[in-house]
Parts: sequence; structure tokens; C-alpha cells
Amino acid sequence: MIRLEHVSKCFGGARVVDDVTLTIEPARATALIGPSGSGKSTLLSMIVGLTTPDDGEIEVARHLLTPLSAEKLRRLMGYVIQEGGLFPHLTARRNIELMARETGWPAERRAARLEELLQLTRFPAEALERFPAELSGGQRQRVALMRALMLDPEILLMDEPLGALDPLIRADLQDDLAAIFARLRKTVVIVTHDLAEAGFFAERIVLMNRGRIVQQGRFADFVERPAEEFVTRFVRAGV
Ligand code: ADP
Ligand code: MG
Repeated sequence: MIRLEHVSKCFGGARVVDDVTLTIEPARATALIGPSGSGKSTLLSMIVGLTTPDDGEIEVARHLLTPLSAEKLRRLMGYVIQEGGLFPHLTARRNIELMARETGWPAERRAARLEELLQLTRFPAEALERFPAELSGGQRQRVALMRALMLDPEILLMDEPLGALDPLIRADLQDDLAAIFARLRKTVVIVTHDLAEAGFFAERIVLMNRGRIVQQGRFADFVERPAEEFVTRFVRAGV
């Protein structure tokens, strides 16, 4: 569903994504993990077409991602940025419906889709008129997820959705997200810095360090067959 070939990106002389070649399979979840600063968010942003690679090629649904094709391909992708990225001056409802309005969906169609998403994310309808600051962290992430799914994209990309939450809300949202991914049966890419969390969400885990892919596999592979010393240290710190 997504293919990267020798993709690199530099910021101010630092190679934050370094020669990444990666295939992401359709209709299942893949977790992208690695320590802070390893290039996970930059990689996601390039897949979504918001950041342009310096080198290499990206294909989404068999289409080459270029500055020209990016806008069209973005319609295939629902993207939840780190921290959710909700507009603080818009209610939850307006945040969710914004894109569907711009795309010209009639009110009935938006209402029907919103109803589906409320059920999927277990978000209370009465909270739709609240502003992001009036919601809990878990509710804000649910709103961000509904916004990403509103146009029913083929691919869902989430950047550290559990990042800033306290433990109870985190556990609750983690369970719900896993159930949602299973129900959606879409291509999901979820970024986290926690190996156990990655194993919870995805069979396939891709570990990055300093812009490079260090190892790919199942949770057990990282524990039983670490590809290098860094993996052993990462597993010890994370599990
Ligand atoms: P991660 O998501 O794994 O924590 P990021 O992709 O956010 O890592 O960042 C990787 C490195 O690139 C970091 O050192 C970060 O400071 C740097 N970086 C990310 N985005 C930019 C940017 N727009 N301009 C300059 N440096 C950036
Ligand atoms: Mg990040």
C-alpha cells in the first residue's frame, strides 16, 4: 500500500531520515517505533506529502508521490499528527466536519458519517459542541481520529496518539484504538516510542534509530533475535 525506496531527508545538515527502504502492507497495522528524534514523525510527514524528501521515491496505492500528485493522494490518507492538531477555536464538530464541508459533502451525508464515527470511537454526541480545551486528552484524540476518518480514507496514519495521556486514559484509549483498527481493516501506520505498545497494536513492527531502519519484525523477533546491540538496549529499556 505504501512503498519507500532509499528515502532521505536532511534538516540543516543533519540526515534525520537516512536511506529508508520500506514496504507497508495493506489492510493491517504496522507500528513505527524508535527513540525520540529518530525520524519517525518526519517519515510519516513525507508519506503524507507534507514534507518533501531530498532523495528517494515514495509510492502510495501504486501512485508515485510528487508535489503534483500529493494533494490527490492525501485524500487516501487520514493523518493524526503528534498532539492531535485540532483547531482550538473550533468545536469538536467543526473540527471533524471541516474537510467534508470543504469537499462539498451535503449535510445529510456528513451527519450519517459522523454518527458512524461517534459509535466507532465511543465519543459522546453531547460533547461535539465543546472546544478542544474543554475535552479530556482521550476525547481530544478521539476527535482527531474522527477528523482523520471522516472522508473514509484507505490509509490511517497516527503519530504517537497515546503520547501525552495519563495512565488510565491511556490504557482505555489503547484498548479502543486496537478494537477500532481491527474493525476498520484499513492500512494503519501507528507511531510510538514504546515497544510493548507497538506489539499491542501491530504484528509488524519497524524500529528506527538515527534516521535508519534497524530491524523489522514481530514483537518476539526484537526480544529473541535482536539485529544489533541497540535493539537489545531498546528492548531492555522499553519492556
Ligand atoms: P521523532 O518523531 O522520531 O521524535 P522527528 O522526525 O520529529 O523524530 O525528528 C527527527 C530530527 O529532525 C530531530 O532531531 C528534529 O529536531 C529534527 N527536525 C524535525 N523536523 C524538523 C524541521 N522542520 N526543521 C528542522 N529540524 C527538524
Ligand atoms: Mg515524533
